Formats: sequence, C-alpha cells, structure tokens
Amino acid sequence: MKFYSTADKSNVVSLREAVLGGMPRDKGLYMPESIPRLPESFFESLATLGYQSLSFEVARQFLGDDIPLTTLQDIINEAINFETPVVDIEKRIKTMELFHGPTLAFKDVGARFMSRLMAYLVKDSDHRLTILVATSGDTGGAVANGFYRVPGINVVVLYPAGKISLIQEKQIATLGENITALKVNGNFDDCQRLVKAALVDSDIKKSLMLTSANSINISRLIPQSFYYFNAFRQIENFRSKSIVFSVPSGNFGNLTAGLIAKRMGLPVKCFIASTNINHIVPDYLDSGKFEPKPSIQTISNAMDVGNPSNFSRILDLYDSSWGKIKADIHGIYYTDDETRQAMTSVKKNTGYILDPHGAVGYLGLKKYLSQHSEVNTGIFLETAHPAKFKDIVEPVIQDTVEIPKRLADFLNREIQSHTLSNQYTDFKEFLLSNSD
Ligand SMILES: *Cc1c(COP(=O)(O)O)cnc(C)c1O
Repeated sequence: MKFYSTADKSNVVSLREAVLGGMPRDKGLYMPESIPRLPESFFESLATLGYQSLSFEVARQFLGDDIPLTTLQDIINEAINFETPVVDIEKRIKTMELFHGPTLAFKDVGARFMSRLMAYLVKDSDHRLTILVATSGDTGGAVANGFYRVPGINVVVLYPAGKISLIQEKQIATLGENITALKVNGNFDDCQRLVKAALVDSDIKKSLMLTSANSINISRLIPQSFYYFNAFRQIENFRSKSIVFSVPSGNFGNLTAGLIAKRMGLPVKCFIASTNINHIVPDYLDSGKFEPKPSIQTISNAMDVGNPSNFSRILDLYDSSWGKIKADIHGIYYTDDETRQAMTSVKKNTGYILDPHGAVGYLGLKKYLSQHSEVNTGIFLETAHPAKFKDIVEPVIQDTVEIPKRLADFLNREIQSHTLSNQYTDFKEFLLSNSD
C-alpha cells in the first residue's frame, strides 16, 4: 500500500519512505491510500480471536503487500505482547487499561510496533539506523524502551535537564546498550531544535543514516487501532449493543486510530474527545473553527497541546466536513478541579484509582451517557498507570498508589546519561564521534 500526504494527495510514497522518512516535506502527515473494510467473517469470529491474531488481520490490510506475512506476524508477536483488559467501573462504564506495557502508558504500543517495523525496513542496509528523539518526558521513555535491543538501530534521546520527572528520566536513561540518553542544558524547544538541525545536516548524513521517531509517524498510528478491536472482543454480544469510546486526548493520535478502526467496520456508535482546558478540538466541534493556541499547563500534562498534530488526519478522513466529523466525535473538556473531583469520587465509590488523563476520559464518558440512555456501554481509555503520576494522584485520593514491579525496577537502576550544552556544534560533534 502507498501513503499520501494530507497536505497534497498527489504526494504519494512507499511504506518505507512513509516510515523512515518521518514527515512529508510539504508539512502534511502521511495517511494510508485506502482504509480497507474488514470482512464480515472477521467480526463474526472476533470474540474468539486472540489479541495478536486480530492485530495481524488489521495490520495486513495496510502492510500485507509490503512485508512478508510471516515477518508481519513476528513483528506483532513481539510488539503486541501485553494485554489491554477492559475493566468494569460503574454501571454502563468500563475502562480499557492501556498501561500494561514496559513504561506503563499506551505509547508503548505504537513505539514497540514502529521499532520492529523499522528494524525490518533497514535490515539489508550497511549502516545502522540512528533515531533521534527530543522529549519533554513520556515519548522518550516509550521510544527508548520500544527500541531497546532492537537489532540494527541506535536511539539517541534528548531531554531537558531538570525538566522531566525522576521516573521519566529513569525510563529513558538507565537502559544503555543501543539507547543513548543526552541530558541537554536547556529546555524542550532546545532539544527539538538540535534534532531538527541534525536531520538536515549533510555532513552528518554522510556517515549516519538518521531519522526521527515522533508521534506523528504512521507506523505508530496503525497499531493503536488494534486495541479498539481488542476492546470489542471483550464485550459480550457486542454486535447487538450500542458502544462508545471516550478518549482522553492531546495530539489526537489515539482518537484518530479509533476513527480508523471504525472506518474498517468496527461498530462503534461514536467517540468522545475528552480534553483538559486545552480545548481546541471541542471548540472546533462546537463552532466549526480550528484555532490553535499556546498550550496551558494542567495536571493531565500529556494532553497539554495547543495545536493537535493529528487534526489534519481527522479532517482528511472526513473530507474536511464539519458535519461528518460532528456525527462521529463529541467534544468535551474539564478543568483540573473537576479532574481531581473525579479521581476522588471514583476512588471513594468503586476503589478504582484513575490517573489524571483517564479521569478526564471518565468525566467525558459520564456526561455523554447521562444524555444518551440508548447507549449500553461506554469505554474510556486509561492511557497511563496512576503510579506514573503518583505526586498528583496521592494527595488527591489521600491514599498511596502501589508501584508496579516493572516501574520499581526502573527506579532501582542507575542513570547513565551524557550531559550536553544546547549548542548545535556540541551535539554534532557527539553524533559524529559516536558513528560507526
Ligand atoms: C500521549 C498521552 C495522551 C494523549 O494522547 P494523544 O494520542 O496525543 O491524544 C493521553 N494520556 C497519556 C498518559 C499520554 O501519554
């Protein structure tokens, strides 16, 4: 299958270019040339398929022409190696827990799949592939762990000194081997500037095969559609029910992956785009106007996005029709106080501990269900484990959050990062002296 740019549909590239090239030069985002509908037989047997088997059926629709099917199966078996259980919270309300991966957030799914796909695409090349990632926290951990020990690939993660949490730093900087952590004396924008400069530097290109692994890569989006199918598989008689998803959103990758699942035939009634006070998309759904703004800091900080990057993909999926988009997506947003109240009441009433992002998803779902009695089941996505946001969660629920073993293991490891100035010449010298 080929991929086109949302900015110019005549700009068509191969899978290899779409995955390794990063972003189209015209500043659009890549989209698959078509979104195939899965056959009726797939939905008839969905309840009996395993997570990996259904993921394979979904993935082959997009990648089956370009990758041998046995390789695709291997990629899926390695990448999709943790479950996404759907858990009861209240009457009509369930959550899908996406935090059972190595860094306890849903970004593990996309990062693990992207890493194995990239490894396949570069396996016959003479050079190792070097991946540069600038991170303000969460993405760096998911990417570093996703690529850890993947053959043929080195990862260099740049993070701002003193500006990420200790948990995040441990998830990035304690791995070693093919993962290099660079602690930059500067802010996130400096990290991003250094990465962008290196990606277009012709001196570096002579000795290193470079790419980036940012969140807009199409190979992260495709696997995120798998778990929407996996959720339905866990709902009894899903074909006779009216089911909605509430997706706590920032850059809208997760929600876009859900829209793709729906386009492939998953019988979702609609999606709820739940945001914090960075409510650019809920405003668009309300007014038809898309007006990016500077982001505002909140307690659900992975959703502090003022210019959601996947919005152009949503427009593309619906031919830019506000009416069609509104039929499938309902927008709603919440303040930090409301988010805290939700965490408190859910803990009190059910014992379940929400993280701040999941709490926003819960609130959006609760509101929607109160207005739609015909809906049988609502599922909000729990995008991270509450232990990742211990400092925020514990004072709110006035209880301790148990730290899962795989997180505790990170906390016990030594940080091994290199410190770097925010000058490009220093970064360049570092890259060139570490090339093979
Ligand atoms: C990245 C992230 C989000 C937002 O997901 P998008 O795909 O950017 O909308 C929500 N919650 C958590 C915990 C995240 O890390």
